[in-house]
Amino acid sequence: MPEVMLRNGQSVPPKDWGEIRLCWDRNARSWFLHISYAAPAEVLPGPAEGRPTVTVAIDEGIINPMTLAAKMPDDSNSMKVLVLNGRQGRSAKRYRNKVVARLTSRMSRCKNGSRKHRRLMAAKKKVEAKTERRLHDFDHQVSAKAEKFTREVHETWTEHHREKSGTDTVVGVRLVAGDVRGIEKNTNKKRRASRSTRQQLSQWSRGRQENYLQYKTGLKLEHINEAHSSQTCPKCSTRTKVRGREYVCKHKSCGFRCHRDAVGGVNIQTLADNDGTFVPDPDLQVEVTYRRSQAGWSPLQRSLHAYHQDVLGRAGTGAYREERRSAQNRATHAGTTVSGVAVDRAVISDDTTTRPGAGRASAHAA
Ligand SMILES: [Zn+2]
Repeated sequence: MPEVMLRNGQSVPPKDWGEIRLCWDRNARSWFLHISYAAPAEVLPGPAEGRPTVTVAIDEGIINPMTLAAKMPDDSNSMKVLVLNGRQGRSAKRYRNKVVARLTSRMSRCKNGSRKHRRLMAAKKKVEAKTERRLHDFDHQVSAKAEKFTREVHETWTEHHREKSGTDTVVGVRLVAGDVRGIEKNTNKKRRASRSTRQQLSQWSRGRQENYLQYKTGLKLEHINEAHSSQTCPKCSTRTKVRGREYVCKHKSCGFRCHRDAVGGVNIQTLADNDGTFVPDPDLQVEVTYRRSQAGWSPLQRSLHAYHQDVLGRAGTGAYREERRSAQNRATHAGTTVSGVAVDRAVISDDTTTRPGAGRASAHAA
């Protein structure tokens, strides 16, 4: 009997299960058991008539999949922003694209249906399936961090309103995102984007992240027009074309500097609260936090880390002790530290070369 766990670690008894389906994943070439169940997750209250409401704005992007912004209650000029970095997702996609391109070009040089062709096809499916699993996890990492931010904002505002007007006040949350739906369409015909940008846009899993966030918070996500939200200065409403990752207002007496995506998030928040108009706030304070949407560690990574912490970090002294815990340091201090790593690396490369289609990966590891 399989065990079904909720996200908080509680197990779901079989009597609460719904439909069960046994599915064949063509790319992974294995069976999956899909079990549906009702999760009694804590649903956040949405906006309603006569209920104080807080707006959580989301700016979506390729480099940073989600940037969330919300006002803070202490004084109305402070804005809390969370920037979620998407490096893990981008690197998974880039790796997949490169491997698939290489395999496809090799496949084009051999006969359709030949043994070589079949082998290359299997390798391609394997990397597709692995990337799909990594991206699935990545989207969950992003939406879980966005959910946490939304819940924290809700909690802060609930406390604030309860102090003012009674302990049974319910605060609603309005989730708003800039409307970027359909941005990936017609990019080639009109030459709006370069080749690589077009590929990034078409592989953007924005919709799935939105769906995960909606189901985790129980809220309905609204889309609003986000025109000029990345260019307009939130302090003085001057429009500046952004170059690079930092926004610098071109107005002489303003000179507002901030993270580019944080500006987008703050502006979408203002647009949502003011029915689609920009309202400049000269005393605005933006507090930006950066988070990686880090995927979980593999058992090998975990054991290597523990090894370096225990054996080389705390127990080792003098010449055996590493200066700082970084891969770069371990590489340069070959004499003292490489032994443990070298053994593990040898294990990795032995393991991967026996499998077809993983030759390149093992070359990298070695
Ligand atoms: Zn400005």
